[in-house]
Amino acid sequence: MTDYHNNLINIIKSDNRVEFYDIFEKILNNQITIKKYHLELCLSFLSTEHNLEILSRYFVLLIDFYKINQLKYDISSYPLIIRISSSLGQLKKSNDYLIEMENMKIPIKNRTISPMIESMSKCFLLNDNLEIDIFKTLVTIFDKYYNLFKTEQFYQLLICFKYYLHLEKQTDVIKSRMFKMFQIWNEIDFISDNKIVDILKSKNKEFVSIGYDLFDVNIIDSTCSRCNSKLKKHELSYLERDKLVDQLFKTYKNNTNHNNNISGLDLFKKYIESKSLDNDKSIFYIIDGGNVGHSSNGVFISDIVIQMLYNLESDLNKTSNLNKENIILLVILHKSHKKDFENEFINSTIIDSKIKDKVYIWYTPFKENDDIYWLLGSFMIENSFVITNDQMRDHHVDKLDEILFNRWKKNHIINYVLDVSFNKTKQINQINQINQINQINQIKFNFTFKYPHPYTVGFQSSEKYYHLPSYYSDFDKDIKWICFSK
Ligand SMILES: [Zn+2]
Repeated sequence: MTDYHNNLINIIKSDNRVEFYDIFEKILNNQITIKKYHLELCLSFLSTEHNLEILSRYFVLLIDFYKINQLKYDISSYPLIIRISSSLGQLKKSNDYLIEMENMKIPIKNRTISPMIESMSKCFLLNDNLEIDIFKTLVTIFDKYYNLFKTEQFYQLLICFKYYLHLEKQTDVIKSRMFKMFQIWNEIDFISDNKIVDILKSKNKEFVSIGYDLFDVNIIDSTCSRCNSKLKKHELSYLERDKLVDQLFKTYKNNTNHNNNISGLDLFKKYIESKSLDNDKSIFYIIDGGNVGHSSNGVFISDIVIQMLYNLESDLNKTSNLNKENIILLVILHKSHKKDFENEFINSTIIDSKIKDKVYIWYTPFKENDDIYWLLGSFMIENSFVITNDQMRDHHVDKLDEILFNRWKKNHIINYVLDVSFNKTKQINQINQINQINQINQIKFNFTFKYPHPYTVGFQSSEKYYHLPSYYSDFDKDIKWICFSK
């Protein structure tokens, strides 16, 4: 037995399929007696088989083997069985296993249902009766597990609906499910892009037949040019922001070693709490100092950050509906730049003492990622914006709730464009890293800002209408929208 055990493990580890099926066949024919967990191992290995013919043959044999020997599936086997039967197109069976899982109170996760959804998006190629059966399964899954769906799966679902529109008997069902789908998108702030508009437009005629008529519209002063609905801003609630704060602390703790009891991030959190309590009405503009300071040629230049503070302050001063007293500029900067930046800041002639009073600076500890600090600051303060061009694709972002994080991103990021020009007459009299270049040409930095829209660029639902951005990129201010009636 031990020999077979080791042998089986080695075969699986070395991905030797010929030998695996050889030994597997012996197991299924009762030529070798093995323990149940060996079977689970075989199942897991089988689930990686791409040859559908082989997969189908052994899967049937394996299921029979369980039945004949009155064996129960292990909890971890259910998602595998569902994966295999889905890839074999046996969605009815997948659904039965799913119900079994539910009865046994095994938690159902996205990875359990995802192979079913994937398989369904291909199933319109099948014959009609089977198609209707599969459609019914799809509807059941959607009703029960839509909260597990990911953006990509909503697309697949929409594509399914699109293909099922020709099933006349199902039209009412589709209509009601689409209605529900749109409601959910509004709730969870579905990440929308051109893809969904393309899907909707490609079947416009059919969608019209079930009551959805699509129009290209413009949004002027947050208002739709067709229906006059005002678009809303979907801010994160306190609890949602708190969730992001928790998740950020967890990733931070996994990635940093602290000798002290209180970490740098704990100190920063206390600092933010004290600042935001004192200034409930304040709007925090949090500056990703590292990103801004490095934005000219990759070398950190304190002057650039100071120039940015000047440009931002003047820009905000022009905004009529802003109470200038409540503006706080919080610079997050790595400790290694402290000496240089402080010196430049104190001696700076471009920003006066009035601006300097509004500026707070927080230096982040050595060996720590300063991005975590400005993220935390902004998650904690409702009225906050982060000035950065950071793409936010770092690993710590992966640990955050995707939907909440994207919603935060849409509402709280200010991007900037830095213009560098050479000005031969202007005097810059600081001693700094660019001094050598200054002796030849005086460099002038100028920032322009791209503020977030006053409404959320995403799926929106009002009393009678839905609105959907049909073109969206981070650097495009002019977004096209479509408007359609409920
Ligand atoms: Zn409209």
